[in-house]
Amino acid sequence: MALRNVLKDEDPILRKKSREVKEVTDRIRTTMKDLVETMRFYRGVGLAAPQVGTLRRMFVAEPSPGEVYYMINPEIIEEEGTVSDTEGCLSIPDFYGTVERPEKVRIKALDMNGEEREYTFEGFAARVMCHETDHLDGILYSDKAVEMHTVEQELERLNQKVKEEDKERVKEEKEQAKQAKKAAKAAKEAEKAAAAAEEE
Ligand SMILES: [Zn+2]
Repeated sequence: MALRNVLKDEDPILRKKSREVKEVTDRIRTTMKDLVETMRFYRGVGLAAPQVGTLRRMFVAEPSPGEVYYMINPEIIEEEGTVSDTEGCLSIPDFYGTVERPEKVRIKALDMNGEEREYTFEGFAARVMCHETDHLDGILYSDKAVEMHTVEQELERLNQKVKEEDKERVKEEKEQAKQAKKAAKAAKEAEKAAAAAEEE
């Protein structure tokens, strides 16, 4: 296995259409393993062969830690719903973008043994699969992004989100405290009323 050099977005190779894999040979398997090693080294969740300069229709993906998919000649055969979310790419370092993707996809692809398999992915995993499949057609997510922002802006956005969630929590806690106060007051009044009734 070997670490490969990841091409960056201005590289014309990333814009080329990759060719189909005719046969899953040892050479193909080695490239796939190199892709996994390189993806993990750079802390990515997916890496397509053209990103390391190999114009073949194949990619690897690890949407959750330890769950590696080897996709050779992948084809999206069904799409369902749409969802807008943030994504990044090892070929476009220091940036993030908001991209609309299908919520759910069905994909057929060859595995490492050359066997055809079908998969269903949802949410983040579906997003990763669509992003990587696009690489095989020379498409980068920045082509589809409705908005691009830097890592700093992404961190700021996440911080803001945390702050807003905090605000929500404080509001909820205040509301709970108010309710508790009301309940205590009502209990006291009921007590008073009961005492008055007894006196009469
Ligand atoms: Zn990418």
